[in-house]
Amino acid sequence: MTHETHSHDVLVIGAGGAGLSAAIAASAGGARVGLVCKSLLGKAHTVMAEGGVAAALANVDDRDSWQVHFADTMRGGQYLNDWRMAELHAKEAPERVRELEAWGALFDRTTDGRILQRNFGGHRYPRLAHVGDRTGLEMIRTLQDHGIHQGLDVFMEMTVLDLLTDDGRIAGAFGYDREGGRFHTWRARAVVLATGGVGRAYRITSNSWEYTGDGHALAYRAGAELIDMEFVQFHPTGMVWPPSVRGILVTEGVRGEGGILVNSEGRRFMFDDIPENYRAQTAADPEEGWRYVLGDKEARRPPELLTRDHVARCIVREVKEGRGSPHGGVFLDIAWIRERVKDHEEHIRRKLPSMYHQFKQLADLDITKEPMEVGPTTHYAMGGVRVDAESQMSRVPGLFAAGECAGGLHGANRLGGNSLSDLIVFGKRAGDHAALFAREQGMPSVDERRVEDLARAAVAPFERSSGEGPYQVQRDLQALMQDKVGIVRTQSDMESALAELAKLVERAARVGVDGNREYNPGWHTAMDLANLLPVSEAITRSALDRKESRGAQFRDDFPSREAAYDRTITVVRKGADGAMEIERVTRPPLPPELQRVVEKEKT
Ligand SMILES: Cc1cc2nc3c(=O)[nH]c(=O)nc-3n(C[C@H](O)[C@H](O)[C@H](O)COP(=O)(O)OP(=O)(O)OC[C@H]3O[C@@H](n4cnc5c(N)ncnc54)[C@H](O)[C@@H]3O)c2cc1C
Repeated sequence: MTHETHSHDVLVIGAGGAGLSAAIAASAGGARVGLVCKSLLGKAHTVMAEGGVAAALANVDDRDSWQVHFADTMRGGQYLNDWRMAELHAKEAPERVRELEAWGALFDRTTDGRILQRNFGGHRYPRLAHVGDRTGLEMIRTLQDHGIHQGLDVFMEMTVLDLLTDDGRIAGAFGYDREGGRFHTWRARAVVLATGGVGRAYRITSNSWEYTGDGHALAYRAGAELIDMEFVQFHPTGMVWPPSVRGILVTEGVRGEGGILVNSEGRRFMFDDIPENYRAQTAADPEEGWRYVLGDKEARRPPELLTRDHVARCIVREVKEGRGSPHGGVFLDIAWIRERVKDHEEHIRRKLPSMYHQFKQLADLDITKEPMEVGPTTHYAMGGVRVDAESQMSRVPGLFAAGECAGGLHGANRLGGNSLSDLIVFGKRAGDHAALFAREQGMPSVDERRVEDLARAAVAPFERSSGEGPYQVQRDLQALMQDKVGIVRTQSDMESALAELAKLVERAARVGVDGNREYNPGWHTAMDLANLLPVSEAITRSALDRKESRGAQFRDDFPSREAAYDRTITVVRKGADGAMEIERVTRPPLPPELQRVVEKEKT
């Protein structure tokens, strides 16, 4: 089997916000950079981001600062965050956003011409720099535009199947091009994983087809550790109707602009359940909430802008107790602002253009006139590759990770807007450090026998064309994860999920595909299973091990937060016998100066 071989100082896998940021930084650091992505350049999942990028620019509220952003991020993550990452993130995000602006990003403006910032869940002050509700598109466009002038070698529509190592150190990657099915080997001194999330392990998700947990699984197989895998974020507002669009995201920006959540009885139920640690920051009544939306500095946040984990659980409760909408969600109403805003239709269309079109085209519903039906959707993986906070390097020398596929920054729950800032802060850091690493290392050697083995394994499904199709296995996996390792979890459900997962692994090893290697989606799906399955196992084992409820993990059998887990994170690694190992690790305490910041912002 012939294949092409390429050679780079730094190979970046993934061309979303994190990958492009890493590639630009590595190239600026003098490295020859290769950039591989499954879709066309510019089409990565980041393009879908809507609400904005969080950075304490303090343009709209001058009380904002990196300290408040840091404290909000830690509180949102229920203090399981890697505090050093949270500190770097809060400190560096403003500079990275200004850099994007300097590279041509056209953010919405304040009346005096600065970058406009909007309210979002869990952020104390208006903090999200945005471009209407199409922020990700602007970010990708800007990074792509800047990146292609850096002399990157871009490999589009190619999938990396496995990483290559040389005596424990990273040596490159092996993959194929999706169009022709030809194999490629990339030799590299350093590799940056920026492959995004894992949402396609679930049936209802806001995530694109690319989110099959590839980076998580590639790193795991290469010897890196994964952390926080139990924390899968279920965004409270996905579309629930019609069925064909179930799961598509309805941005938190709707609530940031004044959208309210009501049940079938017309009750604004979020006022019924305000967690103690957010009470002092939450509006006492709808009137105060609306004043907050208008920018009144004395007013506190409406409860719709509590953290995602909490809002999602409140919605599940309303539905379970029979107060849901006709199609199993609740109502999200922005049209009500007609009572307060002159020209409210024009206002909504200007502030939320994508949401307006999304509902008009997909659900034949005009959000300026009627409420939307929404319910939770699998949205984001807080868990990812365990990396060093400063450099983003994993425990495999030369293997870096950034963006959604890296873990640590968000702890038990990510705040909206903190992903796009994560991508540019830690994407750059990963690129900088990968270039430094590459400069100090010789080119590792690639084991040709391993490459041949990988190629043989990749084409094996064609030799079993009478075997079960991969789609059925993928569908069964998604149903299993949705039903048994979803928003509400129990020991018995997850134990049964583990047993089912073992059977799915056996079925995946026997799947067969027809046809040839030229653009063959069945074949691609067969290979995706090799990533979706270990990632699902890591989520399930981590969730089983954490016998408490915290952030995105809700255990019906352990509904409280337990002090014993206050500083412990779950680490997953491949054991010497090939089986998955779980270890609970205690995070170091916050240094006194950061502890003071957290305490000060608690009120
Ligand atoms: C609808 C929606 C709206 C969102 N809105 C916001 C928001 O307003 N603010 C915010 O902060 N966050 C938001 N998020 C989350 C945010 O968009 C993502 O977390 C973020 O874009 C992830 O970026 P990334 O660079 O890590 O990965 P991505 O942008 O997903 O890029 C992953 C890249 O890796 C490539 N890849 C994957 N596997 C392989 C492989 N095996 N081989 C080669 N290439 C591979 C893909 O092709 C792609 O190029 C939103 C998410 C969704 C779904």
